[in-house]
Amino acid sequence: MSTVTTSGAVDTGPSAVLHRDLKQDPFRIVSSAGFYIQFDDGRKIFDATGGAAVSCIGHGDQRVIDAITAQAKTLDYCHSMFYSCPSAEDLCQQLIRSTNGQMSKAFIVCSGSEAMEAAMKLCRQYFLELPTPEPNRTHFIARRESYHGTTLGALSVGCHVGRRAVYEPILMQNISHVSPCNAYRNKLDSESTTEYVARLAKELDDEFRRVGPQNVCAFIAEPVVGAALGCVPAVEGYFKAMKSVCDKYGALLVLDEVMCGIGRTGTMHAWEHEGVVPDIQTIGKGLGGGYAPIAGLLAGHRVINTLENGSGRFSHGQTYQAHPISCAAAAEVQRIIQKEDLVHNASFMGKYLGSLLKEKLGHHRYVGDIRGRGLFWGIEFVKDKSSKAPFDRELDIGMLVHQKGLGLSGNSGILLYPGNGTVDGKVGDHILIAPPYNVTMVDIDLIVDLTVMAIEAAFEDVA
Ligand code: PLP
Repeated sequence: MSTVTTSGAVDTGPSAVLHRDLKQDPFRIVSSAGFYIQFDDGRKIFDATGGAAVSCIGHGDQRVIDAITAQAKTLDYCHSMFYSCPSAEDLCQQLIRSTNGQMSKAFIVCSGSEAMEAAMKLCRQYFLELPTPEPNRTHFIARRESYHGTTLGALSVGCHVGRRAVYEPILMQNISHVSPCNAYRNKLDSESTTEYVARLAKELDDEFRRVGPQNVCAFIAEPVVGAALGCVPAVEGYFKAMKSVCDKYGALLVLDEVMCGIGRTGTMHAWEHEGVVPDIQTIGKGLGGGYAPIAGLLAGHRVINTLENGSGRFSHGQTYQAHPISCAAAAEVQRIIQKEDLVHNASFMGKYLGSLLKEKLGHHRYVGDIRGRGLFWGIEFVKDKSSKAPFDRELDIGMLVHQKGLGLSGNSGILLYPGNGTVDGKVGDHILIAPPYNVTMVDIDLIVDLTVMAIEAAFEDVA
């Protein structure tokens, strides 16, 4: 067992942390600076995924450290269920302004999963507080091959088979799933994009009618699917068509932008690219850029007006909601993103990253698809390009590439985010690349070179 010495340092014995892997202790990361993280064995690794698409301005930014320090000295805690504080107001004002007035209010929590829970409860409350309440609207329609978080509500609405498996019997039952928009896997060769969108819209419409439109609360989707599929954007027109179906039946549209939002995909909000405005969106990860645990939701006018004219309260709250220090950190991260025009840089550098990945890896024997938007790119691996058959699950190709990335010789390793095909047994393994928004073309060149090396090293082992 690890022990704390009198100096406060921790011995390097077995980990006391209840980690995902109980059989093997994880590597320990001891420091981070700029785009690099450092392990306790001295290895410095280029963080090309910002953890899990979290770090968006790099590590160790002095301006954020100063904001956190100043906040801790001024006000360390505020019971935000009953009160507000300047850093929460600052952050929420910035967020609402960033929607050009499309959203009305922000609710701040500590994780994306909590944000999803809050969003689902807000949907329910909206229908109860309409002038003519609709209490039967308790059903959520979401999509297969999606991930919305780990708490029971968020896990239920998501459809990541691997992450749900152990908990199936205790998940919510009032949820059903339709197909995601995944052109590489699901669009027929004989189908135009318009026909594909029409087919998916019909599937959603059919699901509303199967469940009974009067019972459906909301349709929930990620604008660009992250962990479950590996950066899959929808085809043009898809979200407009889905919104039309929601409007037809009076249901709410909830967009989960926890991973793909806050500039990650080259627009501040991923929905801007789609030309639709959700009723509620969730945000996280890049909101605090990794400097503090923070996430949240933005609610539109339709929802907030209804609550204002109804009970006048949101029946939900948590001890650590809108924590002053987290809000100060996130407010500073957001100010930096704005001041340095980093969303624009993410869009510009993202195009370069995408084109370079396609140039260097598009013809690779085992690379089935390269897709993404902004600085959010996924590479899907397949055993056979023509049939798109995935590798055997046991090979865990995404994890192998990830490990090879960490193990590249010298000080030149790279952190890539692995995912696998446990989603529905048909989808291939993938890695995800999501570097900070302030990367340069030189950084992108390095990321792509190291990624190619990691992939080559992985397939040397497999071949
Ligand atoms: N929603 C999406 C799209 C996510 O990718 C994640 C996490 O990966 C979550 C929700 C849950 O966020 P958290 O892990 O912060 O609870």
